[in-house]
Amino acid sequence: MTGAAPGGRARSAPLLGHDAEPTIFDFSVPGRRAASFRTTGVPEWTAEQLVPAEELRPEPPPLAEISERDLVAHVTRLAHRQYSVDMGAYPLGSCTMKYNPKVCDEAAALAGLTGAHPATPASYVQGWLALLWALSDALCRITGMHAATLQPPAGAAGELTGLLLMRAWHQGQGRSPGKVLIPDSAHGTNPASVSLAGYRTVSLPSDSRGLVSPETLRQHLDGDVAGIMLTNPNTLGLFEEDIAQLAAAVHDVRGLVYYDGANLNAILGVTRPGDMGFDIVHLNLHKTFAVPHGGGGPGAGPVAVTKALSDLLPGPVPKRLDDGSFVWEQPARSIGRVHGWHGNALALARAWAYILANGADGLQKVSEAAVLNANWLLSRLRGVYSVPFDRPAMHEVVVSTKAAPGMQAGVRALDVGKRLLEKGFHAPTVYFPLVVPEALMIEPTETESPETVAALASALVEIAAESPEMLALAPRTTPIGRADEVRAARVLVPTWDARPEAG
Ligand SMILES: *Cc1c(COP(=O)(O)O)cnc(C)c1O
Repeated sequence: MTGAAPGGRARSAPLLGHDAEPTIFDFSVPGRRAASFRTTGVPEWTAEQLVPAEELRPEPPPLAEISERDLVAHVTRLAHRQYSVDMGAYPLGSCTMKYNPKVCDEAAALAGLTGAHPATPASYVQGWLALLWALSDALCRITGMHAATLQPPAGAAGELTGLLLMRAWHQGQGRSPGKVLIPDSAHGTNPASVSLAGYRTVSLPSDSRGLVSPETLRQHLDGDVAGIMLTNPNTLGLFEEDIAQLAAAVHDVRGLVYYDGANLNAILGVTRPGDMGFDIVHLNLHKTFAVPHGGGGPGAGPVAVTKALSDLLPGPVPKRLDDGSFVWEQPARSIGRVHGWHGNALALARAWAYILANGADGLQKVSEAAVLNANWLLSRLRGVYSVPFDRPAMHEVVVSTKAAPGMQAGVRALDVGKRLLEKGFHAPTVYFPLVVPEALMIEPTETESPETVAALASALVEIAAESPEMLALAPRTTPIGRADEVRAARVLVPTWDARPEAG
């Protein structure tokens, strides 16, 4: 990227992309302004008229003074340096970063959906209520549950909601057990949610299969167990084969069985948490049902429950009357709201569009293709990377650089991830799950074509043949080189003056 910067100052091409790039301040010219069209007729107020004098800062803040044209050019240049699900494979295991069909965005952009205020009386927004009711109904069918709340705005928020439902359930029974069991391969949000809900976490070690064994579980079961949190397939991408037995054992001590549904991408239309014995399920619509996420975009983490728990759900929930119209209803013993209004409504609308566009048979194909892609990738990596739990995978695979048969010693998972960036792919999840040293957790997802999965597999195999010294230099071709991630996390400077010369 060479050329003269706006304002006439020459700017040299960044060497291997590692130079500090110009910030918006490099294009600032005193007195220059972006276009402003005063069509409102509202008189312009000065700061002095709006803010008490003692609250005003002595000097105006040092803001960039820039024309709209130069601003758009700067922001567009930055946007082109970003990698995204729209650009290519993003095999970040556990996170399910898949391509989101544009038809879902189009559907969610309908004026009737975007123009409604959430406080509008139900009788004026019957379409919205019909949509939310139908989505809720579909999610119950998909999970084998009885009723759902659409309020939680993320997976972690769904977990907390589910655990609060667990608490309310036990309280209703006059019990107050204090601990929740979680396998050691679980997502970090699980124990965090358990603590927030006022419970203690007890970690269950995975067995040599990478699964929870009924024997291990039995050792931890007593009257103080409020429940267990499991995901199936688990975070190693493996199906918990003894799930029915595990669920029955927890029910025997009057505990509840919680399903972390972030991995539902693997089982849509094939099996249901309800059939496995789960009582409470949260879903990550932004993972499974193609709602854009990452970068803090709004998610949706609905919670579905069995009939026995449905009275406790957060409310209000949409209810369909006999004449086909819809009203808001508060469940009889509701734990109350867990979000303002009705959740991230437009994320919910996207998920509903995705379910409609695929249909029941389409959703099953989604999972079959996700599992096929992951297993095919595993077949290419076996014998090159080590496979700590070598069993048929579900929608994601966990391999390791430690004691890898086809790699030189000393290569770290991080090096492989960084080198993959140079080959045009997003890195997989590394160092998770925690039970696998030097883990690479790869989720190709169903949206990638056989050609793309083949290219990803070839890139990973090629990288395995390289020397640890070379790999440690990667990435050399990206706008930012190997960052000091520990320092970046500890000394976080999320503003423009993070440039080295700004100190
Ligand atoms: C992503 C994920 C979560 C958390 O979901 P958020 O929407 O990020 O809060 C929980 N459990 C598992 C297994 C996940 O993959």
